[in-house]
Amino acid sequence: MNGGWRRRVPASAALCSLTMLMASTVAQADDGFKPNYADRLTTPVEGSHIAPRLWPSRPRFPLRVVVLNSFYFNNPYFSAIKEGCNAWVGAMKGAKDVGLGLTCEDSDDVCTADVVFLLGTREQCGGFSGFTKEYGPCALIRLSVFDSNHRLVSPKALKRVAMHEFGHALGIWGHSPNPKDIMSLDEDAFDISLADINTLRLAYAGKCRTTDQP
Ligand SMILES: [Zn+2]
Repeated sequence: MNGGWRRRVPASAALCSLTMLMASTVAQADDGFKPNYADRLTTPVEGSHIAPRLWPSRPRFPLRVVVLNSFYFNNPYFSAIKEGCNAWVGAMKGAKDVGLGLTCEDSDDVCTADVVFLLGTREQCGGFSGFTKEYGPCALIRLSVFDSNHRLVSPKALKRVAMHEFGHALGIWGHSPNPKDIMSLDEDAFDISLADINTLRLAYAGKCRTTDQP
């Protein structure tokens, strides 16, 4: 599906310290965008003909992020999604070149939203745990509330998927080959790595391939 991103089952892994990550980010904010995986991005979906790319698709900050108050909505899930998005804000604080900021609300008003989260079934996510698609200036992120065994996912697992999908919405349209990165398909990481940060910085610095941009 054009512009689609699909996720596999979340793997269990220990949470890293965001505080430590943020400290290392600040210390290495002027490192020439290294390490990064911009030249090693893998295709968004196995077998996909869509080329991976960096795409600075969010032209303004702060972003208005809306979690649709739909059937599967609940407050723990909302908090998990909000934390997942704000993890990017925290991680990018040392990268002033991007200036990422956002507001996050539960609402039915999507008219001026930049990113919309919608909770649903696994089938609605193409059989995967998450799925991101672009609709003009807006990104629609579907998150499954069920795992592959038809059990409700925990807020912690949902946060990880939200973090990963939000990375796609911000501009990393592909997957990292390193399982330690939140943008890996392996789902071993539960936090945003320095390589994730630098890859996103490259997108907004315009130092990426542009020929494949839609
Ligand atoms: Zn993905």
